[in-house]
Amino acid sequence: MKAWRFVGKGSPPRFMELPVPEPGPGQVRIRIGGAGVCHSDLHLLESGREGGASMFTLGHENAGWVDALGAGVTDFKEGDAVAVYGKWGCGQCAACLRSCENYCTSVLPNRPALFGGAGVDGGMAEYMVVPSSRHLVLLKHLKPSMAAPLTDAALTPYHAIKRARHVLSPGVSVAVIGVGGLGHMAVQILKAITACKIIALDVDDEKLNLALKAGAHTVLNCRGMASVELIEGASCGLVLDCVGSHESMKTALALTGVDGHLMVLGLAGGVLPFSKSAVPWGATLSFPYWGSRAELQEVICLAESGLIQPHVTFHPLSAGGAVISDLQEGRVLGRAVLVP
Ligand SMILES: [Zn+2]
Ligand SMILES: [Zn+2]
Repeated sequence: MKAWRFVGKGSPPRFMELPVPEPGPGQVRIRIGGAGVCHSDLHLLESGREGGASMFTLGHENAGWVDALGAGVTDFKEGDAVAVYGKWGCGQCAACLRSCENYCTSVLPNRPALFGGAGVDGGMAEYMVVPSSRHLVLLKHLKPSMAAPLTDAALTPYHAIKRARHVLSPGVSVAVIGVGGLGHMAVQILKAITACKIIALDVDDEKLNLALKAGAHTVLNCRGMASVELIEGASCGLVLDCVGSHESMKTALALTGVDGHLMVLGLAGGVLPFSKSAVPWGATLSFPYWGSRAELQEVICLAESGLIQPHVTFHPLSAGGAVISDLQEGRVLGRAVLVP
């Protein structure tokens, strides 16, 4: 089979021929129907994955069809359409037992969390092996190629929004900074499950148009910090920073209201001063990570109900290298998905 491989820190990914992987006991082989290309793939290519294999197949946003069952797997059958939950925990710690494998606590400092597409083989390939059937969510009528971006681009903002749901009363302002893969889904999710006033910010007008279509009430091109002052009464109960740079975090803080939540989802490595005089009273700052298995089921349910729908462009698997370059240069609207 063909696969896009991480071959070393700082090197471009390589399209290689590999044997089709065999599922071991308890494992499931998936025939990939779609693999989303995410900004974290760019970070991974740049910085590598400590503790993982020196080479591995990229792709952590995956969906497809059950292709082969390892010994002992009885809860799925060949041909089932499934979304793959991407963050593989130990399955036994308190976090994993609550289905929050994104916060698996059994990971020791010398044993970094590895999962498909980050240190072990992921889904930018024709097939992948998932270590346990508990990481699969059955799809009813959603196509795997549409479901793939839900496993990260939608799950990550959904998890963040759920953490703040106690402040998301009707009429409360929520800002989404960066209308990329995560940001455009954040707007849709807010529209679907809250009656909040949604403000979307980006530096690209085409992305702001996408935010309007996704349900944003106000959009603002925030190239230049002063524009933040243009948002009347933007004292937000929740600010989702889907970029995470110095600049975006500064903008995010300016938008955060008293008792508000600032959540940074983007991985651009920004730093923010956090002190009594620098942030509004009662404000919290957090870096939520991905989402739980139960939340992925909820996200799939929202999509199956037609309440959210990723803006997706499909590309053949062989175009992976070009898609990664497009993403690097900010030319992807919504999510790009590789279809083998
Ligand atoms: Zn991702
Ligand atoms: Zn665990």
